[in-house]
Amino acid sequence: MQQFAHYIDGVFETGSAQFDSLDPATGKPWARMPAATPADVSRAVAAANRAFRSPAWAGLTASARGRLLFRLADLVAAAAPRLAELETRDTGKIIRETSAQIAYVAEYYRYYAGLADKIEGAHLPIDKPDMEVWLRREPIGVVAAIVPWNSQLFLSAVKLGPALAAGCTVVLKASEDGPAPLLEFARLVDEAGFPPGVVNIITGVAEAGAALTTHAGIAHIAFTGGPETARHIVRGSAENLARTSLELGGKSPFIVFADADLDSATNAQVAGIFAATGQSCVAGSRLLVQEDVKDEMLARLKAKAEAVRIGAPEHMETEVGPLCTARQRERIADAVARSVAEGAKLITGGAAPQGDGYYFPPTILDCSDTPDAPCVTEELFGPVLSVQSFATEAEALEHANATPYGLASGVFTRDLTRAHRMMRGIRAGIVWVNTYRAVSPIAPFGGHGLSGHGREGGLAAALDYTTVKTVWLRTSDDPIPDPFVMR
Ligand code: NAD
Repeated sequence: MQQFAHYIDGVFETGSAQFDSLDPATGKPWARMPAATPADVSRAVAAANRAFRSPAWAGLTASARGRLLFRLADLVAAAAPRLAELETRDTGKIIRETSAQIAYVAEYYRYYAGLADKIEGAHLPIDKPDMEVWLRREPIGVVAAIVPWNSQLFLSAVKLGPALAAGCTVVLKASEDGPAPLLEFARLVDEAGFPPGVVNIITGVAEAGAALTTHAGIAHIAFTGGPETARHIVRGSAENLARTSLELGGKSPFIVFADADLDSATNAQVAGIFAATGQSCVAGSRLLVQEDVKDEMLARLKAKAEAVRIGAPEHMETEVGPLCTARQRERIADAVARSVAEGAKLITGGAAPQGDGYYFPPTILDCSDTPDAPCVTEELFGPVLSVQSFATEAEALEHANATPYGLASGVFTRDLTRAHRMMRGIRAGIVWVNTYRAVSPIAPFGGHGLSGHGREGGLAAALDYTTVKTVWLRTSDDPIPDPFVMR
């Protein structure tokens, strides 16, 4: 079996504890992963703190940090096929998606490489004649970055890119499910020439995550995962008072009006819910469709869902692969069964096939009469679409906003003024109009409510990893007068 290693203080180590990683397409072990102990976590945080103050990193100009990030971007682009194969093997995400996504991950590092020397401070027009006052933007400190199993290279790029551009150092914990691509990525960080300790990459179970996020040496926690884990993390951050940015899940509405281009809406909906086998935080998992076109839309979706090529994730022709874990498949099957028991009508899919691997078919449920069914209200993180119909724009908005989440949304209509009204009315961090799942390093990404807070991507994300230092300089050579009167 292939053996993977942690990367701590510039050294690769297989660690004192280890676990097997399972291939989701077969359910069989294929690689040995190191499991971080609390002592490993402490060493990684100590290394990151040393690196944060070291001349080798703190002494670099912002442009020099940018050059290191440009080098990393080139290495990621060159290694994309190898990284994609590893992600596919370890998480079951299909090769078609991992190859395209990882090639684009390089663009995130390029964007933040270019941004490193554009993070500016300010000079204030202060209300005192003999004072100069500046604001310096300084790196916040050591960042704990924690990611879930899906799209680990992408979800870590949106944290590492801005954190390193700002001058922070990082301890990144890969998910215990499918950590191979991130542990391999550590080799590229090393090759790019980052000084030891600037980036440390470990993996391990929840305890390792908890040891990391509660550590006194952490200044900022950048977390992507589920709301329950986020609650643990925020409670834990009462110990170190670290700042948090949370990218959590969603139950995103995908709204189709009768005047929409139904071909495009159908294709976007299929990609929106079945891509990544539904394991996507922005999955458009609730279709809201105007009554007049509901039957037409359902017939189109059923036909597409049943024609999807399900198979081994490493084959380029596969369109839907296995879920990442057996646990995930059980959770999804259970929620579908509970929804059907509550009266949701199964249109297609619904039952896991016999045989090896954690497969679950594209599933559609008509929930027009069961708005409280689990598949309408719970984030399932799988290929399950609930459908509800609406008559009016107001009703569409009411359904769209009937969720404690607020990450993404989609609206399909040819009516420009309606598109504007919907864009304003939907409570979500992202509104896609006549498109879905478009992302870019230039555009902020994130949500509110149960979907978390903070934004990744764009300039503001880099500012999140800085703190402001106010510098006062007295320009007068006159002696300081009466010490008991403040000026
Ligand atoms: P999870 O919350 O169970 O785990 C995420 C990470 O947190 C893992 O690395 C895990 O080891 C770690 N962890 C677990 N307990 C911890 C603790 N007490 N302290 C610190 N770290 C801990 O999430 P998951 O089940 O792996 O992933 C699925 C979730 O991630 C879904 O809810 C999904 O919507 C969300 N997600 C969100 C986005 C986004 O950008 N908004 C992107 C992808 C996934």
